[in-house]
Amino acid sequence: MFSSKESFKAAFLEKLEMMYGKSFKDSTVRDQYNTLGHMVREYISSRWIATNERNRTENTKQTYYLSIEFLLGRLLGSNLLNLDLLQVCKDGLEELGINLDELEESEADAGLGNGGLGRLAACFLDSLASLNLPGHGCGIRYKHGLFDQKIVDGYQVELPEQWLRHDNVWELRRHDQAVEVGFWGQVEAVNVNGRLEFRHVNAETIMAVPYDMPVVGYQTDTVNTLRLWNAEPVPFPPNNKNVLVYKRETEAVSEFLYPDDTHDEGKILRLKQQYFLVSASLRNIIRLHKERNGNLHNLHEKIAIHINDTHPVLAIPELMRILLDEEKMDWEEAWHITVHTISYTNHTTLSEALEKWPIHIFQPLLPRIFMIVDEINERFCKNLWDTYPYDWKRIEEMAIIAHGLVKMAHLAIVGSHSVNGVAHIHTEILKQREMHLFHEFYPEKFNNKTNGIAHRRWLFKANPQLTNLICRTIGTDWMKQPNELRALLTVKDDPAFQEEFYRVKQGNKERLASRIYQQTGISVDTHSLFDVQVKRLHAYKRQLLNVLHIMYLYNRLKEDTGFVMQPRTFIFGAKASPGYYYAKKIIKLINELAAKVNHDPQTKDVLRVIFLENYRVSLAEEIFPAADVSEQISTASKEASGTGNMKFMMNGAITVGTMDGANVEIRQEVGDENIFIFGLTADEVLNYYKNGGYRSTDYYHHDWRIRKVVNQLVSGFFADVGAEFEAIYDSLLIQNDEYFVLRDFAPYADIQEQVGKAYSDKRRWLSMSISNVASSGFFTSDRTIAQYAQDIWRIEPAGVLR
Ligand SMILES: *Cc1c(COP(=O)(O)O)cnc(C)c1O
Repeated sequence: MFSSKESFKAAFLEKLEMMYGKSFKDSTVRDQYNTLGHMVREYISSRWIATNERNRTENTKQTYYLSIEFLLGRLLGSNLLNLDLLQVCKDGLEELGINLDELEESEADAGLGNGGLGRLAACFLDSLASLNLPGHGCGIRYKHGLFDQKIVDGYQVELPEQWLRHDNVWELRRHDQAVEVGFWGQVEAVNVNGRLEFRHVNAETIMAVPYDMPVVGYQTDTVNTLRLWNAEPVPFPPNNKNVLVYKRETEAVSEFLYPDDTHDEGKILRLKQQYFLVSASLRNIIRLHKERNGNLHNLHEKIAIHINDTHPVLAIPELMRILLDEEKMDWEEAWHITVHTISYTNHTTLSEALEKWPIHIFQPLLPRIFMIVDEINERFCKNLWDTYPYDWKRIEEMAIIAHGLVKMAHLAIVGSHSVNGVAHIHTEILKQREMHLFHEFYPEKFNNKTNGIAHRRWLFKANPQLTNLICRTIGTDWMKQPNELRALLTVKDDPAFQEEFYRVKQGNKERLASRIYQQTGISVDTHSLFDVQVKRLHAYKRQLLNVLHIMYLYNRLKEDTGFVMQPRTFIFGAKASPGYYYAKKIIKLINELAAKVNHDPQTKDVLRVIFLENYRVSLAEEIFPAADVSEQISTASKEASGTGNMKFMMNGAITVGTMDGANVEIRQEVGDENIFIFGLTADEVLNYYKNGGYRSTDYYHHDWRIRKVVNQLVSGFFADVGAEFEAIYDSLLIQNDEYFVLRDFAPYADIQEQVGKAYSDKRRWLSMSISNVASSGFFTSDRTIAQYAQDIWRIEPAGVLR
């Protein structure tokens, strides 16, 4: 049905009539989108079945990637791309008078994640399938993904997201594979022939129903599976519980995504979600393994289970429970299998994000799991004692349970065979500081896997014009071997190539400019420098530093008539967690600044500030290709990796950044002359935290530029907002500026001046920009996933099917 545009057209029309019982001329865009989606899914089916069949018959080792978030975005376009069907569909639809882009836009983003961590999981699925690796995702099918953001009067307003409002063509409900998950109740111990056995009784069970989504590889036959679990009531409520209460509590488990991944959310519902994901996924994994192998003694040779941060860490005690209670294994063997099956990625060193569960919440909800964690802790502490006798302080610091809290990161390290950070500098900080005691005890477990991005979505799909230009220039080998983008270095100074490269960027800027106009009613100058900061709103990411610098530029334009500035459009996109008061104030501040700057006739030709609401994957795909400058200005040591920085680089934006996360490796790849680095280093920041010595008021008093902009936060510069920004003012001066915004202000202003100068030299700028694209190959998630596959999971690519 996709072999030619004629057969596609005929199949499309027939399918539409069969699905909707109406003729093409009466169909809506949604009907057309659904029709095409169903056709693609049917086309995938035979390969999906074949992949599963092969996995079964060859009994190859499989990886399961457990993640509380999958930030997939839209799937029609990326599926068509990976299946090589884009052109035939585009051409066929065009003859029917349908614009494929318009169909794609009618798809809701699958926004089952907050930001980097969830998007990483999505990029990893794409790479696993594209590398023919047997790796599958396990997650939760939230009814509502991350909230939709509206800006009203400058404030963020959150609306419930509704991606399932219309049916989801990419999922298949597999009711026959539903499993039960039990909470609450008690543990009974029984002596069976001299062996103490434990049973979880009077549990409140809920049903986990899987919805499977196919994950297609790029130009391969592999179709892996993303299995998302839906929480549903069992037919008869357990323990004679009130039916309506039971139903409401059950459905709540997969109702909402928690809108924050930087704070530890100490809520029962969150712990329920975590156990629900883990327990359902493990049952399923183990059932398949048993069908193929008969027993679980070789589980770790056939299965790798990866936990994306600590949210799925209960996989460790849950696997132990299955091996001990259901398989009747002894502790030593069960522990060996568990540790060798599970691996863990750490995503942050922010202490407020490290999960710690109070025992009084954990124990009643998961009584048997708690017992097992307690035993793991006992045995671990005993081992510590053997190595460090009488070192009470060390043992207390490393214990899994201490002071009434279960420390999930400690459980993850002890119960897995591999612990990885997500960028070189992050892993070093883990080893030398945050987890140095564990690194000393288990040096062999620690390793680095620098994050990556799916270049198919973030370059081929988001920036087809640049992709075409690259192919015309250096051929197509780089598409599967992105390191070969390096060949572009030979033309970075070639005037003809530069001109073509420039025109591609201009086209992308014009496309973004129309989106900006459509969303905000503001027209921006596409010849101005597009300076972009898009990411979650968080104090450590320092959107505030960017804002204060814009205020300074504005002041200078007003005061110094001789000041000439390279015209700039500052573009922001960011959601703040609904309960994060300070972050919401920054959003209001950006919008107030935009209102002021954009309406001032004296400045509006050279300075524009745009806040694009509802930042999400589909919007991101329009932003990255249009950026000239990428703002990666987190307080050094705080951003574990960042992946936005990689998307910008791959699309030719030049980084203004601190020596933090993957910025360090970006600099290494692209060279110091093609990046703008400024500010405190991670060591300097960490030493300030350790030894003190920073006084933000010194910087306030000694730099008139800082004094002026900080005063403007509270002095009536922003009309009609009263005390709106007092909390921001206080964070800088009263609370001593935890994220060193004032400390880094001057170096930031200096480097931004250099950026302006560089941009005014068009040929130099283009050379730098091209160098960034040419050096971005390292940051494909194909490289990252190949490293995980080889070093951690020990899985192999499948041979070619058929
Ligand atoms: C890549 C991405 C992120 C992560 O951005 P960082 O700058 O690394 O924090 C967050 N949200 C979306 C929608 C993304 O595509």
